[in-house]
Amino acid sequence: MGLQALRGTTDVLPNDVTRWSAVEHTARRLARLYGYQELRTPLIEDAALFLRSVGETTDIVQKEMFRFEDRGGHEIVLRPEGTASIVRAYLEHNLHKTQGFVKLFYLGPMFRAERPQAGRFRQFHQLGVEAIGSDAPWVDVEVITLCVHILRECGVTDAAVWLSSMGCRDDQATSAQLLRERLQPDLAKLCKECQARFEKNIFRVLDCKHPTCHEIAWKVKGSPFVLCDQCQADFDTVRRGLTAANVPFDDTKVFARGLDYYTRTVFEVRAKGLGAQDAVAAGGRYDSLVEDLGGPHAGAVGFATGIERLLMAQTATAPAPSRRGLYLAIAQSTLLQEAFRFVQQLREQGVIALMDYDGKSLKSQLREADKSGCRFVAILGETEMTQRAITLKDLEQSSQQTLPFDTFVATVAQQAKSRECH
Ligand code: ATP
Ligand code: MG
Repeated sequence: MGLQALRGTTDVLPNDVTRWSAVEHTARRLARLYGYQELRTPLIEDAALFLRSVGETTDIVQKEMFRFEDRGGHEIVLRPEGTASIVRAYLEHNLHKTQGFVKLFYLGPMFRAERPQAGRFRQFHQLGVEAIGSDAPWVDVEVITLCVHILRECGVTDAAVWLSSMGCRDDQATSAQLLRERLQPDLAKLCKECQARFEKNIFRVLDCKHPTCHEIAWKVKGSPFVLCDQCQADFDTVRRGLTAANVPFDDTKVFARGLDYYTRTVFEVRAKGLGAQDAVAAGGRYDSLVEDLGGPHAGAVGFATGIERLLMAQTATAPAPSRRGLYLAIAQSTLLQEAFRFVQQLREQGVIALMDYDGKSLKSQLREADKSGCRFVAILGETEMTQRAITLKDLEQSSQQTLPFDTFVATVAQQAKSRECH
């Protein structure tokens, strides 16, 4: 058996790249439409960043980080998520001083040492946005609306938004105490990890993947979070805002986010037909993270969507791509140089241009032209050389025309551009 890609990692082959780039393109376009700017951070970070942000009792830190020591003995981590890195960059480059409120997005691979299964990988890709430097609940509304907008335009039409508020840090202390009291009778039935976290991080039970814990958590009727007046008022604004933006949501579900930095608004988007891994996107507010990482107070809210899961959740299929470019077939290999000259000129004019270099028969070149999805086909042979003119076939319009050599390139370029979106 030859070498294979590691378990939990995948090659995206050219055919699938079309769907990937359509999603990336839509996401970037919509993020910019809402005023978010792209920020690219490194794939490796200091391990301490995630210990201090994501939290020591979370699944990510306890068992999912790819962590290693470099030759100098520094603890390095392959980034498991985007928010911590974005906040680090925000502070490192003083964006809190120069810009105050910033709206950023990112797109790229994340790494988690999880057990690979459908919809769960070790290298996966996230698109995320972060709005940092505002406590206004309308920013939550904007972020959730953008998330739903991106999913919808990417063809995920069967998705439900679960919405909740975990309250501020003070509220969380009260809620944790109440939740402990409610779960106390079932303590012995919880999985070992949840038992260990019972004192330290009781909310983890609500997010635990263990079936028994899940069942116990669902016995908790109503929201397990008590909210102070301010958090309650903000949560009401978020709900009113989403209603105004026409974004349906379900605020009756019991859930908490599995990362420690979340406060107040949290949400998850679940898609039908994804089986156990049905969360396509998730996010919320993290009002203490900037301070926890050494910055000033800066309220913040964001979300991340898993691109692999988004692709799995697509219900609306994208229309087949239209035919593009030109294939120049040659009747004999002595014409290679002449043909290459045309092909190169077309490329310089922005027209996709293909040809064969291996001396294939005319028949197989034409077969290849059809397979390659080219819109135009032209054949260069002895007759064309003598007449200094070439016949251009338009496979989309089922038409053909004969063009003199000196206007061939310009005419093809003009026709290709007038009817194709480059
Ligand atoms: P889950 O509950 O499925 O483990 P999570 O709470 O760990 O998800 P987040 O950290 O909130 O997920 O990441 C946001 C999104 O990234 C998820 O909703 C999902 O779409 C995607 N995602 C997370 N982990 C993976 C993974 N291992 N493989 C593929 N996609 C993932
Ligand atoms: Mg997870």
